Amino acid sequence: MRADLHVDTLWRLEEKGGGLTPDRDDLQIDANRCREGKVSLLCTAVFTEDNRADPWEHCCRLLDVKDRLSKDPEEDFRSITSPTDLQDLELGTTGMLATIENARCLEGDISRLEQLHERGVRILGVTWNGANELGQGVLDDHHQGLTDFGQAAVKRAAELGWAIDVSHLNREGIIDVCQTGAPVLATHSNARALHEHPRNLSDELLKLLAQSNGLVGVNIFPPFLAPSSEAVTLDTVVNHVFHLMEIVGKDRVGLGTDLDGISKTPLGFRDHRDLDLFESALRKNGLDEESAANVLGGNFNKWWSSWSDCQNL
Ligand SMILES: [Zn+2]
Repeated sequence: MRADLHVDTLWRLEEKGGGLTPDRDDLQIDANRCREGKVSLLCTAVFTEDNRADPWEHCCRLLDVKDRLSKDPEEDFRSITSPTDLQDLELGTTGMLATIENARCLEGDISRLEQLHERGVRILGVTWNGANELGQGVLDDHHQGLTDFGQAAVKRAAELGWAIDVSHLNREGIIDVCQTGAPVLATHSNARALHEHPRNLSDELLKLLAQSNGLVGVNIFPPFLAPSSEAVTLDTVVNHVFHLMEIVGKDRVGLGTDLDGISKTPLGFRDHRDLDLFESALRKNGLDEESAANVLGGNFNKWWSSWSDCQNL
């Protein structure tokens, strides 16, 4: 099964309207491309910009889009809230798991987490690049960890059976999240040892994530993969996968493309239609068949099942 741990499609659809069944030249994701790429699960970010005036209303509108798609018989998308849902997904359909990207939408009100849980959200991305009521993002980093509200929100989200997403969060915030013992992952982040970029994770943080049973989804946005002077291909993405595997272990790496949130992709990779090429590139560079398939989804599925189902009992 194939899973993409981070896509921004809901954000785009909320702006542009319409569905994903007609081919969407104005988006990077649609139903046909999901089918061609054999994508079983999209972790659909409920993304709110740092400067938006109505973060909660915006977040609710993005969740409305997900509900509209998953209830429309013409659309082959279903809301997913547990590994069991994912297992039960009918062939030819794609699951959508709602994730918060920027918990500014809570507007400092912890009870909003329960409302979001009701609406199917299961992953809390603490910040975007700026600072918010919970903590500091990588572009507004004053080297402080989670705020008291951030600590309380992470604790409550974990009680609800969510994982905490630390992509975009600063170093001190990531350390704090790991210390809470909550299930943790970085849905769309790369290796800083290969490319010095504030969005990428240092080996120190990758080790910490691994010790915390966390998972990392490799991001395909070229500026996160290599300096702009270099051509970025699927082999560049593979290099990041291999480095991540070396530090966190080969069962802890997945794919979080960032599609519908990025302006370009690696040479030779259009979108999910080319996932077979990505899998081949992993194999060609020496990864065994099972491990390559696991990067494309198996690792996320196993990781989610390993803690989610027992918590929901
Ligand atoms: Zn992002």
